[in-house]
Amino acid sequence: MLDVDWAERWMHTAAADVAAARDDLTELDRLIGDGDHGVNLDRGLRAVAERLGDPAIAPRETVGQVLRLAATTLMSTVGGAAGPLYGTALLRASKVTDRAVLDASGVVALLDAALEGIVARGKAASGEKTMVDAWQPAAEAAERVAGTTDDVGDTWRAAADAAEAGARATIPWVATKGRASYLGERSAGTEDPGARSTAIVLAAAVRALQ
Ligand code: ADP
Ligand code: MG
Ligand code: MG
Repeated sequence: MLDVDWAERWMHTAAADVAAARDDLTELDRLIGDGDHGVNLDRGLRAVAERLGDPAIAPRETVGQVLRLAATTLMSTVGGAAGPLYGTALLRASKVTDRAVLDASGVVALLDAALEGIVARGKAASGEKTMVDAWQPAAEAAERVAGTTDDVGDTWRAAADAAEAGARATIPWVATKGRASYLGERSAGTEDPGARSTAIVLAAAVRALQ
């Protein structure tokens, strides 16, 4: 069941999984950026987990309220490109999930809104070697699966698998947005750090299912 407890578990699981992958993410960003992506996102999600652990901070009656708390925390604690991008994604997602329980179409709405937020903020199209290349296939896969089943688990698993494949597909590409684009052809051969972290964060949504 995708309820408020799931949303909180998602954020806690994402924080733990990004913490475990912090050095790998930072290494990817060292190769084609400025080497701070793992540290940035780990700092932000650690703050999210801390704030979620304090029940006095904000109401948690809807999934959207959990995502809004995560969004505002990421925006205020993560610098660089990724903080505003993840923050906008979750803020937009929070606006379409302002209810106690999500069904499969709610998962599709969440992912669509997150993707729209990232594109509105960063203006990247698919194929530019950014986190869009993980979020977009995830949203598309969720939409496909939700058209054939009402199972939220199947919908999330399809999204997470597509994000994983999408992140891997960025490896040979040349970046044309973000800091990695400064490297031109030399950005080819390294997975985009933000696409990799997206695959981790969306896999955490699956791990948070019960
Ligand atoms: P910074 O580049 O400011 O140091 P991070 O290292 O935290 O920020 O995040 C880098 C990631 O942000 C990239 O790997 C990419 O996925 C994502 N990114 C950068 N610019 C954009 C953009 N315009 N649109 C979408 N994603 C972007
Ligand atoms: Mg960076
Ligand atoms: Mg930076």
